[in-house]
Amino acid sequence: MNGRRAILRAMPDPTSPLQDLPLDHGYAALGGSYHARVSPAPLPDARLLHFNPDAAALIGLDPAAADDPAFLAVMAGNAELPGGDYLASLYAGHQFGQWVPQLGDGRALLIGAVRNTRGETWELQLKGAGPTPFSRFADGRAVLRSSIREYLCGEAMHRLGIPTTRALCLVGSSEPVRRETVEHAAVVCRMAPSFLRFGHFEVFFYRNQHEQLRPLADYAIESFFPQFAGRPDRYRAWLTEVCERTARLMAQWQTAGFCHGVMNTDNMSILGLTLDYGPYGFMDGFDAGHICNHSDEGGRYAYDQQPRIGHWNVSRLVQATLPLLHENPDTAVEIGTAIIDGYGTAYGQEVVQRWRAKIGLREHHDGDEQLVNRLLTLMHQGRSDFTRSFRHLSRIRAGDEGPATGVREEIVAQEAFDAWVTDYRARLRAEQSDDAMRAAAMNAVNPKYVLRNHLAQACIERAEAGDFGELGRLMQLLARPFDEQPEFEAYAAEPPAEARHISVSCSS
Ligand code: AMP
Ligand code: MG
Repeated sequence: MNGRRAILRAMPDPTSPLQDLPLDHGYAALGGSYHARVSPAPLPDARLLHFNPDAAALIGLDPAAADDPAFLAVMAGNAELPGGDYLASLYAGHQFGQWVPQLGDGRALLIGAVRNTRGETWELQLKGAGPTPFSRFADGRAVLRSSIREYLCGEAMHRLGIPTTRALCLVGSSEPVRRETVEHAAVVCRMAPSFLRFGHFEVFFYRNQHEQLRPLADYAIESFFPQFAGRPDRYRAWLTEVCERTARLMAQWQTAGFCHGVMNTDNMSILGLTLDYGPYGFMDGFDAGHICNHSDEGGRYAYDQQPRIGHWNVSRLVQATLPLLHENPDTAVEIGTAIIDGYGTAYGQEVVQRWRAKIGLREHHDGDEQLVNRLLTLMHQGRSDFTRSFRHLSRIRAGDEGPATGVREEIVAQEAFDAWVTDYRARLRAEQSDDAMRAAAMNAVNPKYVLRNHLAQACIERAEAGDFGELGRLMQLLARPFDEQPEFEAYAAEPPAEARHISVSCSS
């Protein structure tokens, strides 16, 4: 402990105003084939609606920035950050399985990357800062509703331990924006080491500009996968890592009951981060075929499809980077196929380990997967609440007999659950599981609080009426999803009947 304090004290004071933070421009340096320089569009009546001190600490930003008009001006896009190099990046992608040759940042502007005292770089990106050459007739804006959803979920996911982009602050305004109705524009300042997507590579493959792939891949490797830099087999090693990270991310989404909603290849991060929060959702009642995106009529991105779509998406990335893998196209395909094959193994290992942890199993026994699957099946049959069901499991005691009172109430198919509990207890006894230790371990992986749709919706409705208190409360709540927070008990309840079918569309 003393040693740790000494290290903290030895670090330079990590609090500077925004304009003094050191900025890197590695992506900008790639040149004009990869992006376009754009100035942000001014935003009237800009107001700082929330400031995230934890994200600020990552870039060494003084939290007093929250009261600094100069900070607000930059975050609203009303002033450019000195030393910033504002640009929108070019990408393409497969949207709902269809190739779309030209996408790009249509409403997001990269300012630059802040290098912190630990040597990490965090790109700052303003989402909703006005039109760019990639806006395709759209307005370049984001509405308050979708900006709140993005802002909240980045932090919620991070606190659940799921790789994600972060958010520094949320700015609101009086600028009207037309969607289904007239709403108001907002800007989120997102942070990530990189916002590179699979689509950043796809665009050059399908345009037949293969010579553009190598500088981009080398930039990505040197900046974010330095362990592979300079190696002759670096592209293979890098793509293998991206496939594995994507597979592990899918395992995390599945075991959190999280649905992304729009898993197009332009929304897939090269770093394996959860990226672009649109019509996402944490499941309330567990439905394996749950479709969170109202616009996804065919259910392409349904909950139980996500791991398969992750595989399809990494296949598109590997296909787009085949020219890097070998000059002989047949050999490149062979190498690429082997890389893609690694996805299944990585996913399988990760997901099994995570499900086992969720039901509190330490050891690996034959039949564990069936035990998990039986539980999921009966949760699905009864549409039992995903988060509450897993959270309550830690109350089961290995040595008890009979129905698990206080847990079975969460499960709709109660008789089937009683039979499952008998087998589960026997399995726990087979590894001499200690009730208290198991409960602590389970409560550290099964959150009590997640960003349920109805909680986000209530927050949005209040914010649209000018009350941002709920936004602050949710940020506070979601910062500690695994802890009991008695003052927030109501936020762990199932949604009220009238809020169960909130539909979320792509409109943002
Ligand atoms: P999304 O569905 O939000 O991932 O966006 C898909 C593509 O459309 C991306 O290239 C976005 O930049 C672009 N886009 C979405 N909404 C807007 C908007 N309001 N203005 C400009 N571009 C947009
Ligand atoms: Mg997107």
